[in-house]
Parts: sequence; C-alpha cells; structure tokens
Amino acid sequence: MLKGKNAIVTGSTSGIGKGIAEALANAGANVMLNGFGDAGEIERQRAALSSAARVEVAYHGADMSKPADIRDMVASAHKTFGGVDILVNNAGIQHVAPVEQFPEDKWDAIIAINLSSAFHATKAALPDMRARKWGRVINIASTHGQVASAEKSAYVSAKHGIIGLTKTVALETAGSGITCVAICPGWVLTPLVQKQIDAKAAAGNISPEAAKMALLGEKQPSKEFTTPEQIGQTVLFLCSPAAEQITGSAIALDGGWLAQ
Ligand code: NAD
Repeated sequence: MLKGKNAIVTGSTSGIGKGIAEALANAGANVMLNGFGDAGEIERQRAALSSAARVEVAYHGADMSKPADIRDMVASAHKTFGGVDILVNNAGIQHVAPVEQFPEDKWDAIIAINLSSAFHATKAALPDMRARKWGRVINIASTHGQVASAEKSAYVSAKHGIIGLTKTVALETAGSGITCVAICPGWVLTPLVQKQIDAKAAAGNISPEAAKMALLGEKQPSKEFTTPEQIGQTVLFLCSPAAEQITGSAIALDGGWLAQ
C-alpha cells in the first residue's frame, strides 16, 4: 500500500514509535528510524526490519531537543530516500512532580522533545511533501492533549500544544494533498509507562501487577492497554485514501478515557 513512500518516525527505537515504524515498513514504506539506545541493538533492529519488510530502513541519531540535529535528520532522509512523504512526530519523555517542585530543566526538556521537535521536523519536511502534492504529518499526542492529570504540567502543556500545532498545520496545508492529524493514545504499556507503574508500586507498597491495574482503573474504562500495533495500524489508515479528508483532528485510542 505504501510502496515508494518514505517515512521518518522519531523516537522509534522503543515502544509506540517502534510499532509505527514496523507497520509502515511492513506496508512497503522506506523508513528512517530515530531514537536513543544501544548502538548494536539499534543496528540489529534496523537490519531485521529491512530484511523482514524488504524495504530500505535507515537510522539517524538526532537528539530531538536539538533543532540542528532535527534539520540534519530530515535532510539525511531526503538524501537517502529522495524525499519525505510521511513524518511521524512521536519522540517523547515524561516527568511527574507537582508544579512547585517541577525541575526547570525537566520542563525545558519536555517542551523541547514533546512539542518543539514536531515544529522543527514539520517545517523541514513540508517542502518535500508540497513538491510531491502528497504528505502525512502524524503527531503522537495523548489523552493528555485534551485533559490533564495532576503532576504532569510540562507533559500536559506539550501535548495540548501539539494538538494546536496539528490544527494550524492542517489549515496551512488544506487542499494540497497533505494532511496533519494527532493521535491521542490512552495508557500504552511501554518503558515510559512502566516507570510510572514502578513508582506507583513503590509509593503504595503494592505489587507491580496491582499498580498496573490501579493505573488503568483510574483513567481507562476498558481496563486494557492500547497497543503499539493498534497505533501502527491507525497510522496506516491515516495514510490511506479513506483518510484524505481527515485533517486537523485528534483521534483517540483510549479505551473510553476521554468519554468520562
Ligand atoms: P518510550 O520511552 O518507549 O519511547 C520513547 C522514544 O523516544 C524512544 O525511542 C527514545 O529513545 C526516544 N527519545 C526520547 N528522547 C529523545 C530525544 N531527545 N531524541 C530522540 N529520541 C528520543 O515511550 P512511548 O510510550 O513509546 O512514547 C512515545 C510517544 O507516545 C511519546 O510522545 C509519548 O508521550 C506518547 N504517548 C505514550 C503513551 C503511553 O501510555 N505510553 C500514551 C500517550 C502518548
């Protein structure tokens, strides 16, 4: 379905981004991976995906808090593949603390990685999409782009911001063959959430399993995690002709979290 298309997925060495990169490659797109991790493990992941999906898979180690790195990543995808058609802004981090105790450096890092990186990458990738009269900018926001939780001031601010960026880019590209959409997952069991489960287990002196159920029970009525595979399939749908008129929207995959 996506043969001949070229994609960048930021933060794709783990969790949701990894699931999205696999879905895009398996649908025929060439993919540029990005993210941190052990160099040997990343190379193993890159080579395995390339041979399983029979597409080109490249890797760029851009630090998403650094605009010059981001520009270099997009330029490198252009050089390697000949252009960028699909940009998935997924890289993200979390820090949990009340606002009075929230460390300034964590605030700055979360705004840079979870919000500003999407601006820099979108700005750099749009010229290729305009030249091709087709493009998909898919921002991985969160239910926290639409509602808040205590102790997540920076994350909630960044995720609300990325939904605003999504709407603005959608208006500026409307009718050009390019769409811009935000995906808002509820809880997904990735390393980012495992840290919060471990903290909850330690604070309440309960088992990790009990902490996991408590986390889901507080917010996600289905009491089931959303999976990276489901998010990957949603990205494929957004790349399909059926989704041509879906732009500027925020699509929830949250087991009913936002319905409450
Ligand atoms: P994760 O920790 O498993 O993966 C994060 C990825 O981002 C990794 O590949 C990591 O190396 C990369 N990354 C982090 N900082 C980076 C930087 N400075 N430069 C480049 N790459 C960097 O987390 P995840 O849960 O898969 O989260 C992915 C996205 O999904 C984030 O934007 C997150 O906010 C969002 N999200 C997650 C959940 C959830 O429940 N896990 C829910 C809603 C939204």
